[in-house]
Amino acid sequence: MSTIADNIARVEDEIAAACARAGRSREDVKLIAVSKTKPASDVIAAVKAGLQHFGENRVQESQQKVPQVLASVDKPIIWHMIGHIQSRKAKDVASLFDVVHSIDSVKLAEKLAKFAIESDKTLDALIEINVSGEASKAGLDASQWQSSAQVKDTVIEEIRHISSFAGLKVIGLMTMAPFVDNAEETRHVFAELAALRQMLRETLGLSLPELSMGMTNDYPVAIEEGATMIRIGRAIFGERT
Ligand SMILES: *Cc1c(COP(=O)(O)O)cnc(C)c1O
Repeated sequence: MSTIADNIARVEDEIAAACARAGRSREDVKLIAVSKTKPASDVIAAVKAGLQHFGENRVQESQQKVPQVLASVDKPIIWHMIGHIQSRKAKDVASLFDVVHSIDSVKLAEKLAKFAIESDKTLDALIEINVSGEASKAGLDASQWQSSAQVKDTVIEEIRHISSFAGLKVIGLMTMAPFVDNAEETRHVFAELAALRQMLRETLGLSLPELSMGMTNDYPVAIEEGATMIRIGRAIFGERT
């Protein structure tokens, strides 16, 4: 059985290779280890192997795990919320996490912003975009923005509104590609998120430096298409049960 440190070394090699193919610098891609369902001891092993960014998707699980990890490591950890957030959990999310990738409505953004201010912090925020139009996917529906002026205007308006709240600092966009056998088939999804970011830069004057895209199945392709944050679970911690 390979250890978490071995797995991280393997993922690092793949990241370096993808960066080299794309002519990008390794420093431009943050590796977020997705530790959902895994025990604090796995996170601690990953910290010892050099990782600093961790992604979780459930508030209750994180409320247990975050203090357990922090009690046994002496390095600062950056916690990323990557899962769907129910509004009644917004307060806990704002206090536990540093970065939220899964903002999918103006209403949720407003709540998180309010609680962030109450916790005396500014939350780094990414807006989740449903690029593929799959009904099962969360996020603002932007699947038709290039062909429908109405969809485009709605997306622009929602993102303008989400970016207006004090307490949130909107740093970029996040998406999940469909599960497919051949990662090549996800390339267009990542390219479309990058194109949407470009349009938003031009229309809203936001810089949106971060593109959170790419998981175990498809992160090399996501890096080639400009990902600055990749969210890797199984390739680091093994299959989830
Ligand atoms: C679980 C999850 C990941 C990690 O998926 P792996 O296939 O284990 O790499 C990434 N992003 C989100 C939003 C997730 O829920």
